[in-house]
Amino acid sequence: MARVRLTDVTKRYGDVTAVENMNLDLKDGEFVCLVGPSGCGKSTTLETMAGLTKPTSGNIQIGDRDVTTLPPKDRGISMVFQNIALFPHMDVYDNISFGLRLRDFAQEEMDERVDEAARVVRLEAMLDRMPSEMSGGQRQRVAIARAIVRDPDVFLMDEPLANLDAKLRVNMRTELQRLHKQLDTTIIYVTHNQAEAMTMSDRIAVLDNGKLQQIAPPLTCYNQPANRFVASFIGSPSMNFAATTVADGSLDADGYSIGFDTGTVDSVATRRSVDIGIRPEDIYLAENSAEAADPSQPVSAETDVLEPMGDEIFVYLKPIRETADDTADFAEREGLLMSVAPVTDIGEDDSVDIVFDRARIHLFDDRSGEALSHGIIAGAEIRTGGDSVGADWPRYPLIAFSRRSSSWTDRSGIKRRLSSHRFWLGLTRQGDGGASPLAGGHSLVSDL
Ligand code: ADP
Repeated sequence: MARVRLTDVTKRYGDVTAVENMNLDLKDGEFVCLVGPSGCGKSTTLETMAGLTKPTSGNIQIGDRDVTTLPPKDRGISMVFQNIALFPHMDVYDNISFGLRLRDFAQEEMDERVDEAARVVRLEAMLDRMPSEMSGGQRQRVAIARAIVRDPDVFLMDEPLANLDAKLRVNMRTELQRLHKQLDTTIIYVTHNQAEAMTMSDRIAVLDNGKLQQIAPPLTCYNQPANRFVASFIGSPSMNFAATTVADGSLDADGYSIGFDTGTVDSVATRRSVDIGIRPEDIYLAENSAEAADPSQPVSAETDVLEPMGDEIFVYLKPIRETADDTADFAEREGLLMSVAPVTDIGEDDSVDIVFDRARIHLFDDRSGEALSHGIIAGAEIRTGGDSVGADWPRYPLIAFSRRSSSWTDRSGIKRRLSSHRFWLGLTRQGDGGASPLAGGHSLVSDL
């Protein structure tokens, strides 16, 4: 395993800047996903690490070595691609061992390595099968085994699951996480699928337009997005956004107002306008306002279409003030999407009162899109990007917490309760060898 560092890497193809001033410092043994929409520069970034393309400028280090000008074979990397290029006329053993044979490995060592790699991807019993006799998932596992046998310092994977069907993709996701745990190798993984990135990575690097937008643990990107792009890209369905004007102590959107704490969100009080963002799960029916950490005043709305998902219902709310342009699509009309529990008694075209959880409203600069604040109540501070969300966590190491309930049990078995105002949840993620901040909140903890 090895650390991978990109310093000011830029790659241009003629007029197109595929990657611009990319700085990444990926730790030994880390699983990092490069994520972003098609054409944002993910593959190009990975290819510069692999040596398949030379950066126009900048510097690439793998382990202690500067590999910027080294050919791929000397970089200690293995790649797995989206298209599974197995040799159709070779059985699994020959496919896996192909690279070793090219390098004149002794038969005994080759056997040992192939057996070990096949065991890791659970293909021991299939070494004499031909690729045509295998399923898509099994073939992808052969491709991964072929990467493993070389015992690389770094795995580079470019959308390796993109050609698999949905169910298999989810299975392979788990397999890759297991593989990472077992091999303890640095894995850099390109995907446009944010769910894949959220579930597998230690950190996500979100790219847009060739530029790094944020690199942070998945839930930091989710809870403290560095800017509006990250906020809208991470999370499905996407965050709701609205333009507001700043009045004395309130943010006025089209047809409704949300009170905020002028004393605590200084950066906003001096502005005229600001964009707000709120996730569907942070909007509640007023009757359930107790579930919100800090509910706003109720706002009247009307439901539009419902989408029952089984575990939740997505409720599209009509724009709170209809604009003249009825033909504009839903997002343009600034309707809101909320998610409610599956047992909720709600229908289409119902009049409802809703509240916003003010502890979970994000504020963005309406020009640059930079995040200004996560939460608009006392204690809200600017916390963006990076690995850390600040020095004041974890005050209370928690092992379990349900956001929609007001109590939980801490490590020592004491029941705790959430009451008002300010603390950081210091949840420990299993398996990453240390505590990582997963969520910010604004409440005090008291013993029950
Ligand atoms: P992603 O992997 O995020 O979909 P890419 O890294 O493949 O994005 O591409 C980033 C940008 O660079 C795109 O605009 C793409 O068209 C351009 N690009 C990539 N490879 C080449 C190439 N070989 N020649 C010209 N333009 C390229």
